[in-house]
Amino acid sequence: MTKINEIKTYRVPIVAIRGSVVFPNTEALLTFGRPKSVAALNSSFQNERVIAIFTQKDPRIIDPKTADLYKIGTIAKVTQMMTTDGEIHALVKGLSRVKITKVLSETPYILAETQDVVEQKVAANEVSVISKSLTELFKKAINLGKQAEIMTVMKLVSAQVDSTELVDQVASLLDIKTGEKQKLLEELSVLDRMKAVYELLSREVSVLELEKSISTKTQKRFENQMRKAMLREKKKTIEQELGEEDGEMGTEEIVEYQKRIKAAKMPVDVKKKAEKELKRLDQLNINSPESGYIRNYLDWLCDMPWSKLSPNNVSIKKAEKVLDDDHYGLKKAKERIIEFLAVMKIKSQRQEKTNKKLGKDAKKSQSQPTILCFIGPPGVGKTSIGKSIAKALGRKFERVSLGGIRDEAEIRGHRRTYVGALPGRIIQGIKNAGTRNPVFMLDEVDKIGMDFRGDPSSALLEILDPEQNKEFSDHYLEVPFDLSEVVFIATGNMLDTIPYALRDRMEIISFPGYTEEEKQHIAQKYLLPKQLEVHGIEDRKITLTDEAIREIIARYTREAGVRNLERNLATICRKIARQVAEKKRFNKSIALKDIQKLLGPAKFSSLLAEVTDNIGMATGLAVTAAGGEIMFIEVSLMPGKGKLTLTGQLGDIMKESARAAFTWSRSHWEMLGLKEDFASNIDVHIHVPEGAVPKDGPSAGTSITTALVSALANVATKRDVGMTGEVTLRGRVLEIGGVKEKVIAGHRAGLKTIILPNDNKKDMEDIPATVKKDIKFVYATTIEDVLKVALNKWPISKGKSKTNDHPRPTYLASA
Ligand code: ADP
Repeated sequence: MTKINEIKTYRVPIVAIRGSVVFPNTEALLTFGRPKSVAALNSSFQNERVIAIFTQKDPRIIDPKTADLYKIGTIAKVTQMMTTDGEIHALVKGLSRVKITKVLSETPYILAETQDVVEQKVAANEVSVISKSLTELFKKAINLGKQAEIMTVMKLVSAQVDSTELVDQVASLLDIKTGEKQKLLEELSVLDRMKAVYELLSREVSVLELEKSISTKTQKRFENQMRKAMLREKKKTIEQELGEEDGEMGTEEIVEYQKRIKAAKMPVDVKKKAEKELKRLDQLNINSPESGYIRNYLDWLCDMPWSKLSPNNVSIKKAEKVLDDDHYGLKKAKERIIEFLAVMKIKSQRQEKTNKKLGKDAKKSQSQPTILCFIGPPGVGKTSIGKSIAKALGRKFERVSLGGIRDEAEIRGHRRTYVGALPGRIIQGIKNAGTRNPVFMLDEVDKIGMDFRGDPSSALLEILDPEQNKEFSDHYLEVPFDLSEVVFIATGNMLDTIPYALRDRMEIISFPGYTEEEKQHIAQKYLLPKQLEVHGIEDRKITLTDEAIREIIARYTREAGVRNLERNLATICRKIARQVAEKKRFNKSIALKDIQKLLGPAKFSSLLAEVTDNIGMATGLAVTAAGGEIMFIEVSLMPGKGKLTLTGQLGDIMKESARAAFTWSRSHWEMLGLKEDFASNIDVHIHVPEGAVPKDGPSAGTSITTALVSALANVATKRDVGMTGEVTLRGRVLEIGGVKEKVIAGHRAGLKTIILPNDNKKDMEDIPATVKKDIKFVYATTIEDVLKVALNKWPISKGKSKTNDHPRPTYLASA
């Protein structure tokens, strides 16, 4: 090196390096292999061992020219050198930043004149703060695992270096790209360089921190698993050694399950199954998804009331009192229920005796031979009677709705192999009840469906069969559960949609609906006090007059039960409760005149008010899911060719009734004053406006025939005469069912006369006296008996048809 100008200019060999930057104040071990570099180093070594190191802009250039180098490099002293296989390893120490001012020659190496670049120094106190922070940050990085030479580290952390040296040293150690490092080299303001280095180092520190936390977590988890696996193995070995593999060992969870299994007092087989599952759980990794399923299963097994029973003490007297206290009327239903309970009591007593004789081991569970099934429209007290039975027996009450179930698995559960599998509704209900002998109400058995997923009603058959339900197996539970002591009560609105096999197994008790008078009683004695209490105003001495209640029944509800009546009373109570809460004055005695103010305008008027005496129309009586109803059959005639059209919700049987009625009319053309071939010129359209159900097919025979005859003979029917009865082709009127429901509905609708089949006379004993008082009953043996009462004119014609005209088509006023 030749010093041209005292301090600043040197003539030195230039060495190009790739992939790194040498900073002043730092040492670096470099390896040189390219001929130019080797030549430059050799030459310098023979002189003063000084070279200028410049980083290449593009590392891919093999033989870089001056222009390929960055503008600023570092003058360095070669302190040691070693040659191996044509490569030179040299330890260099950076001295200062320089730039090339003049290239003297490019071969055999680049010789150039270089000049020191002046750094913008700052006063020591300005940088001292930041250099302190930089030192701290550097320490932190080292603690987090940053790699650096121990000597360098010691020097830097001892704070015995000046700020320029510190920043260059740290810069050289940064884990950054070459371009970024070069930028730091070129930064001539020491302060700015420090700031840049500080920022880059903080970034590195956060990365190091993140890495450390990840590796610590991974390490911990790994160690934990290893520890557990080892402990488990150890435990097994110890158990084997001690020969007590089934002993009470294991984690807290396992011990807890063991306690629960014991407490559940399961039957032997079930207990075995539970213990087997528990063992599997014990062997599984805690994180395996299967352990979750097993836990769930074990929870179910432990929570089932395997041996929890409510005491079996049926007291007929008490039961009678409870049923009477909670319900008005329903005499027949109550009687049947009491008989049922009596049989149950006798059977259980006999069972106890047998059990005593046979000893405890041979104890057999008492089976319940009959299943009660309550059939009736909504709101007639089926559920509430069920609750009273539970109360009378001192048992738990549980209720499950089966309406709309199509999948057998809903009843019997899903197999455990399904994700999210659960037991069926029966087992769920038993678990809810918490005892093995609750009163279990199966609601809406008439609405069970069936499709490709199996037949839920067949599962239900098994549940209700005392022979089979001792060992009811739920797909999820897998072990049998004894349902034989459950008192099952089924409920439904209609009988005919219940599968025959199911119906056959049950004892049907029908709830036909209430008369106005009964409703009034129920409202005054039961519903109103209950609602007043529900709304917290039972102590306010609020009363409703009989007229007011009658008004609600007649003009705000149209139902067989009392559900809407109860709802309307609840509305009234709510309004009063509000006035009480707002401390307003309110009327304690509610009379007829107040009803409209409280409930708004009346919703219903009398059905019969909608009709007048009419030709081609008759009032039939039917039983629907909502209870008894009256329905208007309409018949219209038009010129045509004897076609019979039927519309409305007609079942097949009802269509047959219509055909039979037509045939009867044709064969009695003379009596009806018609031409023999009248049918060949007309088309007949029969329509049943609403609410009729397939079941009512046969019993609509009389009303369809009456409407048809009225249309054909052009004679009006009496509007306040209702009828029901099946008609044969020859005109005989046959017995039908649901008389009480129908008659009550007719009474509700304001009919004055009701025509019933003669054979239904026996059903009159069920009809409340108040209804009998208001309605005139006529018993018909033939259709002529019906027509005589229902039509405005009878007989229509004594002899043969006098006229050859075909009957004038009649279009209904309301059609
Ligand atoms: P369902 O189960 O038949 O649809 P609920 O049992 O739910 O009807 O009865 C509806 C409401 O009417 C209940 O609050 C019930 O207590 C009341 N109720 C029904 N019938 C009577 C009755 N005969 N005496 C007293 N309250 C009755």
